[in-house]
Order: sequence, then structure tokens, then C-alpha cells
Amino acid sequence: MQESLKERIALVTGAGRGIGRAIALSLAQCGATVLCISRSLESCGSTCSAIQSAGGKAIAKAVDVSDGEAITEAAAEFMAAHGKIDILVNNAGITRDNLLLRMKEEEWHSVLNTNLSSCYYWTKPVVKGMTKARWGRIINITSVVGIQGNAGQANYAASKAGMIGWTKSLAREFASRGITANAIAPGFIKTDMTKDLKEKQVEAIAEHIPLGYLGEPEDIAAAVTFLCSEGARYMTGQVLSVDGGLAM
Ligand code: NAP
Repeated sequence: MQESLKERIALVTGAGRGIGRAIALSLAQCGATVLCISRSLESCGSTCSAIQSAGGKAIAKAVDVSDGEAITEAAAEFMAAHGKIDILVNNAGITRDNLLLRMKEEEWHSVLNTNLSSCYYWTKPVVKGMTKARWGRIINITSVVGIQGNAGQANYAASKAGMIGWTKSLAREFASRGITANAIAPGFIKTDMTKDLKEKQVEAIAEHIPLGYLGEPEDIAAAVTFLCSEGARYMTGQVLSVDGGLAM
């Protein structure tokens, strides 16, 4: 195990599966204590057990990231127990795809609340401690769709584009306190979110990716881990595309 993030406390949302799980495992491998959040305790608990089995430090808690009150409570509990959260990775996200003329208000609000409002709910209590410590890393997982848009995903694209404006604003607001805020924009990554794509669809998608294949959750985790390192101290307000060249 590396020790580069020893003494750091990281909170990762959506840590139960896919990209969030890979991020949690990678940060723990660098020595961070990882607070793993997901909808179900079974899911984040499994990531937490995997980290502990590998000799790392982790805690699991089920928190619905679209529920502001639940987050305020959980954040206060974590701050009381650990005194600080140094790294915040807003990764939890959902899709509720539909063409706009068929899109129900519930599909709009659930995606905006889960993907974007969650960033507000988590960051506000966590950034206070970062400000006092004069060190912090905020990493928001957006999407290539937030940059380019996508038919049938107006709700998702709006939430992900919102995360970019949010990231850049935080970068400006907290730079003087030693806090960086960056976004990572994955392309197509092999997770449960993309598992229902038919083989033909995957082939068609891969044709548009210069590198010619879908990414793995570990590709995103590597970028997050880099942004948490001292090597990335001079990077803030950036949107890092990790997409095989898709959004060039
Ligand atoms: P995933 O495999 O579907 O996993 C999503 C994770 O988020 C799960 O752990 C889930 O919890 C958690 N989550 C969802 N809603 C939640 C809520 N209301 N409260 C708490 N946790 C919640 O997704 P993924 O593919 O890893 O995607 C992770 C992030 O990357 C998302 O923000 C997604 O938009 C973004 N992204 C993904 C891709 C891709 O191709 N996969 C591309 C671009 C961007 P449970 O496990 O408990 O259900």
C-alpha cells in the first residue's frame, strides 16, 4: 500500500458500484480513510469490506444523496467523528432517459436532485472544515454528455453541465484557501449504468471513440487519485476528459 494520502479522510458518494467503488478502492490504496456512501448499505458495505480486507481504512453509510436533511446529519456525524474531510468526490449519479416531449417532471427532478443538488448538500458542510485546514480537494464526476449534450438525456446533460459551472465557481471561491475543485468527464465506462447497451450499440459507440473501446472504472479512479495528489496542487477549475478521445 502507498502512503501518499495517509492522514487524509476522503468521502466518496456512489461508492457501492462502478466508478465510485474503483475510486474508493484507489484512494484507500494510497492510505486515505474512505467514507463510502451509497443508496444501500449492502452496496457501500461491500466496498468498505473490500478495502478493509486489503488492509485499508473505510466506513460505510447508506445516505440518499438527493435528501438534503439526511446529508446534513451524516456530514455532521462524520465531522464529529473525524474532525475533517479532506477529499470530497461527488460521484453518485443516475439517468432517467426520455425524449423531452415525453419526459415527466419526476424524471427531471430526480436526476437534477441526485446529480446536482447533492453536490450543494455535501460540499457546503464539508468545505467549512477544508477552509479551516487550508487544504482540500473537491472532485465532481460529470460526463461527456454535460459537455456535448445528448438527445434523450436533456435532464442528465443539464445536471452534468451544471456540475461544470458549479466546479469552476468553487475553484474561484476557495482557491485562496488552498482548496482545489476539478471535474472529471468520463466517456463510456463499463459499469451498471452502461450494461444494458446492446452489443451493436457498443460497437457503434466504440467506432466514435478514437481509442476504439469503452473505459474501465479504474481509468476514472486513476484520474481522481492524481487530482488528490500534491502533483495536482496547481490544477483547479478544470474539466478533465477521460473518454478515449471522444470529446476532443
Ligand atoms: P452505477 O454503476 O450506476 O453506480 C451508481 C452509484 O451511485 C451506486 O453506488 C448507487 O448506490 C449510487 N447512487 C445512485 N443514486 C444514489 C442516491 N440517491 N443516493 C446515494 N447513492 C446513490 O454508476 P457509474 O456508471 O459508476 O457512474 C458513476 C458516476 O459517473 C455517475 O455520476 C455517472 O453519471 C458518471 N458517469 C458514468 C459514465 C459511464 O459510462 N458509466 C459516463 C459518464 C459519467 P447503490 O449501489 O446503493 O445503488
